[in-house]
Amino acid sequence: MGAVFDQVWEIVAVCVLVAIVLVAGAVGLVRGRSLRQRELTPPPAPPKPSITTAPPTDLDTDTERGRTGTLEAPPPTAPPEPELDDVLVEELPTLERPASARGRLVRLRARLARSNTAIGNALLGLLSRGGLDEEAWEEVEDTLIRADLGVDATGELVDRLRTKVRVDGSGATDEAQVKAWLKEDLLELVGPDLDRRIASSRIDGRPAVILVVGVNGTGKTTTVGKLARVLVAEDRDVILGAADTFRAAAADQLETWGARVGVPTIRSEKEGADPAAVAFDAVKAGGEIEADVVIIDTAGRLHTKVGLMDELGKVKRVIEKQSPIDEVLLVLDATTGQNGLRQAEVFSDVVDVTGIVLTKLDGTAKGGIVVAVQRQLGVPVKLVGLGEGPDDLAPFDAEAFVDAIVG
Ligand code: GDP
Repeated sequence: MGAVFDQVWEIVAVCVLVAIVLVAGAVGLVRGRSLRQRELTPPPAPPKPSITTAPPTDLDTDTERGRTGTLEAPPPTAPPEPELDDVLVEELPTLERPASARGRLVRLRARLARSNTAIGNALLGLLSRGGLDEEAWEEVEDTLIRADLGVDATGELVDRLRTKVRVDGSGATDEAQVKAWLKEDLLELVGPDLDRRIASSRIDGRPAVILVVGVNGTGKTTTVGKLARVLVAEDRDVILGAADTFRAAAADQLETWGARVGVPTIRSEKEGADPAAVAFDAVKAGGEIEADVVIIDTAGRLHTKVGLMDELGKVKRVIEKQSPIDEVLLVLDATTGQNGLRQAEVFSDVVDVTGIVLTKLDGTAKGGIVVAVQRQLGVPVKLVGLGEGPDDLAPFDAEAFVDAIVG
């Protein structure tokens, strides 16, 4: 009985063993097949180079395209490509068409009107009050000096007005008459006949070169960006040079301004790079692409006059190895008054300033600085900044300016 029992157990054990071997074999077979299957499945197609939106260049010929395979038809297994239109819409920046610069200065009146201390209002109030005694004339003088007109110009203006009032004999109560005199005399001081054109067309078969200088914070980089827009609106081919390598964000800022209107910017990727080298490259590139004008932004650290002289002097010398500099625009913040005039003096000792850009005229009633700075430097105000908007830079126009001030 025991032997029979043992035999039965042996048979059961053998059966279990056979069953285990069979199951294990079956599992192994399935796994092996699935692994092989996986190995045999071709890997997904490598990502295809995306369709670039760079403008065609001379190299962008059919052979070139064939070699890079950029425009080849996708293999059937490749994931669906984005539509060409989508790529273009996504990657090509929409170029802005800047507004024409003509007539922009009339906006100054609206900007100044926000400030009820505008010289015009104050003066007219005083002058048309009638019965002008010494005290009233002193008040007129104070108003003009507060408006940054400067002592000399104020003296001249008051003398002329006094003569007119005396000759007229009416005691100056007619506001329209007083306004007309004030406009006439102020216009004379502002200089209606000064040449305020900016060198921005090719000269002797090369681009015009504009160097923009001024203390940091005055609105230099912004002015270069706005000026590029003004010139693009006049169909000029412009190229920018970001030679303000001291301030980390200046080159990015400038590049953004340029990109909005399709103007290239030459810059260094390295912070603190040699500004003269960047300026040199920009002028070189301007020549190569046959631009109409190269505008170079610079750093204006007034650490010491010697330091400034070294820095700007070098930029100037290095540019002049390639091309004369046709225009040096000094950017001054109109709200800084006497301080701005002192800056003007320092810069004009270092470079030959040919024109002044007065920024932030929207933020001040002190339009008199136009007269003061022109007298001090003997060069005209050529452009004025009227706000932070992209088209808030206006070519200076003496008549429109006086109209805006006097009202
Ligand atoms: P930079 O250091 O001289 O290059 O100065 P930026 O160009 O960076 O400008 C300094 C600040 O002045 C920025 O906030 C500009 O938006 C502002 N700014 C420049 N021009 C004008 C202007 O005409 N009016 C006003 N209100 N702000 C201006």
